[in-house]
Amino acid sequence: MTDNKKTPDTRKSDTRLTTTGRRKEWTHGIVNPPVYRASTCLFETYQEYRERVADPAARHLFYGRKGTPTQWSLEDAVTELENGSGTMLFPSGVAAITNAILSVVRTGDHILITDSAYDPTRSFANGMLKMMGVETTYYDPLIAGGIEALIKKNTKLIFTESPGSLTFEMQDLPAIIAAAKKHDLFVITDNTWATPLFLNPITMGADISVNAATKYLGGHSDVMMGTATANERTFKMLRRTAHQLGQTVSADDAFLVLRGLRTLGVRLKQHEENALKVAAWLKDHPLVERVLHPAFEDCPGHEIWERDFAGSTGLFSIVLKAGSYEDTAHIVDGRKLFKMGFSWGGYESLILPSDPTGARSATTWASNGPVIRLHIGLEDTEDLIADLEAGLAAYKAHLGL
Ligand SMILES: *Cc1c(COP(=O)(O)O)cnc(C)c1O
Repeated sequence: MTDNKKTPDTRKSDTRLTTTGRRKEWTHGIVNPPVYRASTCLFETYQEYRERVADPAARHLFYGRKGTPTQWSLEDAVTELENGSGTMLFPSGVAAITNAILSVVRTGDHILITDSAYDPTRSFANGMLKMMGVETTYYDPLIAGGIEALIKKNTKLIFTESPGSLTFEMQDLPAIIAAAKKHDLFVITDNTWATPLFLNPITMGADISVNAATKYLGGHSDVMMGTATANERTFKMLRRTAHQLGQTVSADDAFLVLRGLRTLGVRLKQHEENALKVAAWLKDHPLVERVLHPAFEDCPGHEIWERDFAGSTGLFSIVLKAGSYEDTAHIVDGRKLFKMGFSWGGYESLILPSDPTGARSATTWASNGPVIRLHIGLEDTEDLIADLEAGLAAYKAHLGL
């Protein structure tokens, strides 16, 4: 769609998606790395035992928790796509976020988190981090270079998520990263919405890029996983934290995510196209006040998306002109294609009324009507639009408009 300066080789990512994570010594010449289910790995000799335990971070079979070629292949693939120095795998996106944060903060530190962050990120900061003596300030996602005014002597980290996965404000990552660099802070980005295909935070200067692989990387709503990819200065810290906390994923789950990853390019192109079509239709609907989709001008920070991102994906929200959250039952109940459920990034469409007001502290959310989040799947867009049209007609009749 747009030419992207920060992720210049995105168009080559389709080739990388097929070649990456396929080292011959791990695949033995078959196309995909086999699923190695393992706990115990056997050492033939005393010398082999001593050699393999000498460096538990090296990729030789040592113990199941440290991975097998199945997990390492996925790590390699994500590292290459994110343009990082190394990747650790986690049992969920939330685990990837919490471990990434723990790898850089210490008791007494202060951190900055975007007010639009995924809610469990906020819960971790307000719960466990607070208990550890780490103080959090939430910042307006549209703050850009103004973030410098919030940096204190003990600030250690800026945590960004762009766009936020409910209200979709775009963050000026280059300006935020420049402020962080000036004060020698770490930057962690939740890259779940864009995926490494549409944004490369590490190329832009972030230290760690996190993906909820549960979403687009896996892509089929059948696996939970998180990835954290770090640059050179932070990878050892990330790996140490993950090892100390005993983080591991099964070979079966790693295989599923690696299989999903192979089609990420074609899936995202279709999610993007379908979402743009459905969003354009919704934008003209008389009951819709605003479409919160980064590719649309209504979306705060739209010009940042245009400048920094190589594309848009299937998740966006709409703000309705009238009605309450209770009333939205008339939109969502009885939908043929848009089912309600948490998560997103699978091949199927989803709908979820989601009130942003409770998950904010630095900014306030105001709108006349409720917010509804949509994930646009790979179904035919005419069918999707007809399904939404029926829901909105029922809503209109219920409100007596
Ligand atoms: C879903 C999600 C996560 C968490 O992923 P899980 O695998 O569900 O733990 C993190 N960030 C964003 C933006 C998400 O949408």
